[in-house]
Amino acid sequence: MARRRRIYEGKAKVLFEGPEPGTLVQYFKDDASAFNNAKTGTITGKGVLNNRISEYLMLKLAEIGIPTHFVRRLNMREQLIREVEIIPVEIVVRNVAAGSICERFGIAEGTPLPRSIVEYYYKADDLNDPLVAEEHITAFGWSTPQELDEIMHMSLRVNDFLTGLLVTVGIRLVDFKLEYGRLWNNDEMRIVLADEISPDNCRLWDLKTNEKMDKDRFRRDLGGVEEAYQEVARRLGILPESAPGDLKGPAVMQ
Ligand code: UDP
Repeated sequence: MARRRRIYEGKAKVLFEGPEPGTLVQYFKDDASAFNNAKTGTITGKGVLNNRISEYLMLKLAEIGIPTHFVRRLNMREQLIREVEIIPVEIVVRNVAAGSICERFGIAEGTPLPRSIVEYYYKADDLNDPLVAEEHITAFGWSTPQELDEIMHMSLRVNDFLTGLLVTVGIRLVDFKLEYGRLWNNDEMRIVLADEISPDNCRLWDLKTNEKMDKDRFRRDLGGVEEAYQEVARRLGILPESAPGDLKGPAVMQ
């Protein structure tokens, strides 16, 4: 079958030219990487699950008025998205200390943070995605102060909404990473949520046991990686074989 033109290939996804101008096809791979590509591997079925999980969460966010790049899911591994101009800043929102914040400030993993903390990282693999201040973002022109203000407020809304949604299925949203893009419509521009929201870029812990249900299982060789991704999808009610009675918490069914 003739493939569409490949626009970009990242660690976990490929972007192809879409069927209409202004659209792209986002293909989810099973490939996984961590520590800026120092560790690579495959998580069987991850692409299929992340495609579904990200679709589900982006549609839920759209329902509360968060604009996203998501148009519709095309098949098991692909979704149609709007082509945006990606802002080269990763927005990390943290509720509980884990990962790099623990090392940076000497905080024990699992310590609840006094309030949700928003951090910015410059998207540059060759520099190891350095932590940056608002000053760097606006001074170097990666975004305007107005855009950044909107991005910060949207990210906190996403955090509040996803925290609540995940609690109902017995999952604690520890932290996550978002990316945004500029969507142009003639001369008008809006900031929209882009990339994906999945266990690849969120830390998700079981509410009762604190068991990790995300990519940290791969990063730290904890085993049960595939099962963890499946369990997140199952609890969200988006695995075909799941039934409401299977869910531990109140069901969030589509
Ligand atoms: N994260 C991500 N991509 C990155 C860096 C971080 O998706 O390039 C996510 C990560 O999965 C976690 C959150 O952002 O949910 C915070 O990550 P942290 O800064 O603690 O870095 P890490 O410990 O993952 O290197």
